[in-house]
Amino acid sequence: MPEPPNQNSPVRQTNQPQSQLINGMTVDQVAELMTQVIRTLKEPSDEEKQKKAEETERKKEFARQAKMMAEQEVTQRMAMHQACIHRNAQRHTFVAQVTGDGNAVAICQICRKDYKWRATPDQISQGINLLEYAGLTEQHLLDWEKRFPPTGNQPPDRTKLLMRAGKAVA
Ligand SMILES: [Zn+2]
Repeated sequence: MPEPPNQNSPVRQTNQPQSQLINGMTVDQVAELMTQVIRTLKEPSDEEKQKKAEETERKKEFARQAKMMAEQEVTQRMAMHQACIHRNAQRHTFVAQVTGDGNAVAICQICRKDYKWRATPDQISQGINLLEYAGLTEQHLLDWEKRFPPTGNQPPDRTKLLMRAGKAVA
């Protein structure tokens, strides 16, 4: 009858008993000491902590400035929209085109204010030449937006601007 294979394996033979002392400490105590040493070595120094704090502060400041600039841009854009009469000496300054999703987008070439509505079949087949509408005003475009709401979930850019600026959306 052969012996079971693991009886005299080298692992068993070299395994230290838990009670053996190394410099007066048990194996468990040595292991614990090593863990503590490693943890201490891994801990960031005061200098590193300071650097990290400064970095965090810099990122926060950057985000704050970016937000402020974005808000200023919105405010400026809205002021421009408001001040613009969407006309030059000869005519209104709106141009429009049909987009791939079946909407029509008009924009004032001076202030970049935009308007969006669902394109009519005629507009889709023939395009939109707003210069044909000599008497066109912003009110007409706003009416089109109301009467032919654009497809898709995207609100007109103006609405996004108003919402971002925290203003009431008309
Ligand atoms: Zn304009």
